[in-house]
Amino acid sequence: MNKNNDEVVYPAPGTVRKDMEKPIYVTQPYLPPLEEFIPYLEKIWESKILTNSGPFHQQLEKALGDYLGIEHIALFTNGTIALVTALQALRITGEVITTPYSFVATSHSLLWNGIKPVFVDIDPNSLNLDPAKIEAAITPQTTAIMPVHCYGHPCDVEGIQKIADSYNLKVIYDAAHAFGVKDAAGSILRHGDLSVLSFHATKVFNTFEGGAIVCPDAKTKVRIDQLKNFGHVGEVTVVEPGINGKMSEFNAALGLLQLKYVDQAIRQRKTIDAAYRERLKGARGIRCLDDPGENTPNYAYFPILVDTDFR
Ligand SMILES: *Cc1c(COP(=O)(O)O)cnc(C)c1O
Repeated sequence: MNKNNDEVVYPAPGTVRKDMEKPIYVTQPYLPPLEEFIPYLEKIWESKILTNSGPFHQQLEKALGDYLGIEHIALFTNGTIALVTALQALRITGEVITTPYSFVATSHSLLWNGIKPVFVDIDPNSLNLDPAKIEAAITPQTTAIMPVHCYGHPCDVEGIQKIADSYNLKVIYDAAHAFGVKDAAGSILRHGDLSVLSFHATKVFNTFEGGAIVCPDAKTKVRIDQLKNFGHVGEVTVVEPGINGKMSEFNAALGLLQLKYVDQAIRQRKTIDAAYRERLKGARGIRCLDDPGENTPNYAYFPILVDTDFR
């Protein structure tokens, strides 16, 4: 504060104000006990299998399928490459309807495929793509919809699917925020043609870097697994221009250990969520997102909506 006590003086970028030497983090990654990771590393050193769908990779795919309640999942090096590959897997071209209210990777995955992102506004209550506005944005070039379960809150999956069905469009969910989220009937990841997860350090479940595509059938998984491994089918045959999107054994091993603690981590988030809700009750100009209702949330974020005329 300056002498008049009316204007906040912010520190220069890169410096820390004297009274704020202990930084306050917006988020911190969940890390398991380090000593429990050592045996995993010893196994990797013993086997010298570092990547290319090794034993930890296979175990993690199985374990995540069980945990998430889905059948087919393909692990990736990160969520962005998984999004790029998901679009390739379904041979999406032309225009894709998506939300502007997301992390940049959603739209960038379209641009990296030479696809035009067409933005449709969000519902101000859910912060997700508003299905009522999708139809007006559909053109003869539209091939798919790429909604985001923003902050882990499920989209209006039925509303979106109805439009997709009547216009013959694919639906690829950016589910980067939605690890472990369920609706009344099961995993939110079962909706649409594909769902893409991120296991980045800032997400509810992290493998430092990582991601995955959830797909409905074994045949699609085979295609995705080929695409993420240079288009290889077997040792010497390459059938299409793929990419290197493989998750390493290090990240997969870490994922197996993180999975043992993820319920505990989500419970801690739930406690914090409840405390925020309680203490923000009645705060002027601030609104929290609606209760999850029948959905099982993961408490990934705690967005607040601030009234624009709030002083
Ligand atoms: C984190 C995130 C991504 C990208 O995931 P990475 O694993 O960081 O590449 C994509 N979309 C959304 C909405 C995200 O929050």
